[in-house]
Amino acid sequence: MLAPKQTTIPTLVRVKPGALDRLGIYAERHEFARIALFFSRDLDARLLARLTASLQARDIEILRQTPVDSHGLEKVTDLFRECPRNADAIIGFGGGKALDVAKYIAFLWRLPYFSVPTSLSNDGFCSSQSSLTIEGRRHSLPAALPAGVIIDTNVCLNAPAILWHSGVGDLVSKFTAVTDWKMAFHKAGTPVDDFAALVSDASVYQFMARPKRDLEGIRLLGTALLLNGISMSICGSSRPASGSEHLISHALDSLSKRPRLHGLQVGVATYLISLLQGQHTGPIADLFDITGFWQAIANDPFDRAEWVEACRVAPNIKPDFYTVLSSRDCLPEIERALDSDSKLRQCFG
Ligand SMILES: [Zn+2]
Repeated sequence: MLAPKQTTIPTLVRVKPGALDRLGIYAERHEFARIALFFSRDLDARLLARLTASLQARDIEILRQTPVDSHGLEKVTDLFRECPRNADAIIGFGGGKALDVAKYIAFLWRLPYFSVPTSLSNDGFCSSQSSLTIEGRRHSLPAALPAGVIIDTNVCLNAPAILWHSGVGDLVSKFTAVTDWKMAFHKAGTPVDDFAALVSDASVYQFMARPKRDLEGIRLLGTALLLNGISMSICGSSRPASGSEHLISHALDSLSKRPRLHGLQVGVATYLISLLQGQHTGPIADLFDITGFWQAIANDPFDRAEWVEACRVAPNIKPDFYTVLSSRDCLPEIERALDSDSKLRQCFG
């Protein structure tokens, strides 16, 4: 039966150069007088100074500034207890760990959360999940979408190029994720939310129309990843943004001696899965050529044996999650592709 769903979607979205210096204005408009700030411990001190100056210029009190270098749930529990109870809102500033921790603490306290990423390496800055570790293993815990997303495109443009490549890899996985989702509908009766699938699909094409690493390209990547995060929240499932390519990446996270950035693993897995699905391979390969993604991987190649093992265990990671990997024993095809496909061969040392 079709029933209306309640989803809180960010009402404040700023994706532009200099947005960081206007954070105080945005917070003031939302009538936040006191905030708690969580930031990446290795963040450039000049960026932190800009953010605090912007808040102080509007007389917004920073009750507590907490550097984050761990996203272990045990540590997060301590930070949750220490978070001032009289804060009007929580701001997460920096990379993935700090944003995931801030988002989760805001969710536990039921406080509005502002997400201020300094790079765009995956879609986590605007998702309703927090990626945290429990006893060293990564888990996606339910949280809420941010009330505000502020992306300073100049700041993100100055982040290392490899983080941009990771963002491109995570974005392009929507092709294979949506194909897996539709396959799951036909083979296993998994319900598909057409609107969420549409948003996810459209976000990739929006970026592909102009895949450049400049201010406008950062804006397009940022908005596309943001819409992806929202599409997951709309349907209450990770399906529009995560399919078998993400299963392979999750497997690598637990078995690899040196797991890489999420979007780098996911990007290569997306290309591999597109071969199994028989769709989208050409556009993905071209996008990776244009953006320099292939070269970024070739500069620090993956371990083939680890990938074969990850592909072997991937179909069994999530129960009741039908993907192309469930449709047949794909391992022989995967091994053939790793050896014979010219794009994939350069990804492995
Ligand atoms: Zn992802």
